[in-house]
Amino acid sequence: MGSSGESSLTQTLASLAKEHRLRSLRTMRPLCRPEIVLDGQSRVDFCSNDYLGLSQHPALKAATQAAVDQYGTGTGGARLIGGTLDLHTQLEEAVAAFKGTEAALVFNSGYQANVGVLSGLVQRRDIILADKLNHASLVDGALLAQAKLIRYPHLDLTALEDKLAHCPKGVQKWIVTDTVFSMDGDQADLTALAALMERYDAWLILDEAHATGIYGEHHRSGLWETTGIGAHPRVIQIGTFSKALGSFGAYVAASREVVTALIQFSRSFVYSTSLPPGVVAANLAALELVQEEAALTQQLWANVDGFRGRLDALNLGLPAWRSPIIPWILGDASRTVQAAQTLLEAGFFVQAIRPPTVPEGTARLRITVSSLHQPDHLEALAQVLKTL
Ligand SMILES: *Cc1c(COP(=O)(O)O)cnc(C)c1O
Repeated sequence: MGSSGESSLTQTLASLAKEHRLRSLRTMRPLCRPEIVLDGQSRVDFCSNDYLGLSQHPALKAATQAAVDQYGTGTGGARLIGGTLDLHTQLEEAVAAFKGTEAALVFNSGYQANVGVLSGLVQRRDIILADKLNHASLVDGALLAQAKLIRYPHLDLTALEDKLAHCPKGVQKWIVTDTVFSMDGDQADLTALAALMERYDAWLILDEAHATGIYGEHHRSGLWETTGIGAHPRVIQIGTFSKALGSFGAYVAASREVVTALIQFSRSFVYSTSLPPGVVAANLAALELVQEEAALTQQLWANVDGFRGRLDALNLGLPAWRSPIIPWILGDASRTVQAAQTLLEAGFFVQAIRPPTVPEGTARLRITVSSLHQPDHLEALAQVLKTL
């Protein structure tokens, strides 16, 4: 920006608008999920990350209501200053059991967890090796850590290994990746990453935001569970309560030593008021539900497969991987915005995702399927996509 702040801000915004990149907020209200009211009209929501519909589940609502009645609405303090309720401790024990780790720590959001883990644990002299398409909060955490940041090409473990091999001896290395990528739904090869972690004596930080609650046979605790490797002193698993778990907040599941370090050094943990009791109670209820009710995830995967089958039958291209996140890449930002508008007029809320959220030239519609969609919703959306 130039010296005259205001006019250069005006110019910056004007040029964003010209490139069809100006972002704005859209206000919606749930009707009966997945139906919502947007711009005064009823639409079917295909952009929520509430994959299992748990935000509407009676068990979560009842848990929140009961906790508010008993504890009130706020905690009145940060975790280290009177803000640790018995509910927070219970939730941390429940997360550690869910993930099979020694310990866990609850953060106020996934963004704060990622920023707090990287800035709290990584030293300036260390090296962070991060997938190029990692979530922005992991990038911001790496920048705050002020360590050397190397971003390897998306999912390219050969490139990652080459970079690991070229790190100076004795330097601590941190491999950082989303497990399921938020804008494409594709997945990191965690077994291969674990082997690299061992071979190069590195740490492995995994962001399970889009995997928690839906991947993993037994606990449905995320993609790491599917490797069968379990707890490891140098693996740090981060996940959120804000997506498939239908609520809000995040956790870090790791060794007791890592959790102790986070309590000391993670500024986004230390300097923020703790999650309110109603939210913590909903998180506890959500963890219990996903582990006990396999039908929830079965319905989601049935819908994902049903939708993929419809796209396939209409000869519309499909990503090779199976995920509730289905990217519909159109490339050009203005064309993507236009397509989202066409879908909206047809009654579907699908978000257009443009750079800088995704790389240049890969603007897309990001469709998310949830367990709440009915076969009619899936069929109708596929039919409209065919006309785009
Ligand atoms: C959504 C998301 C986050 C942030 O989580 P919030 O709880 O929404 O702050 C972090 N990482 C990934 C990969 C995400 O998709």
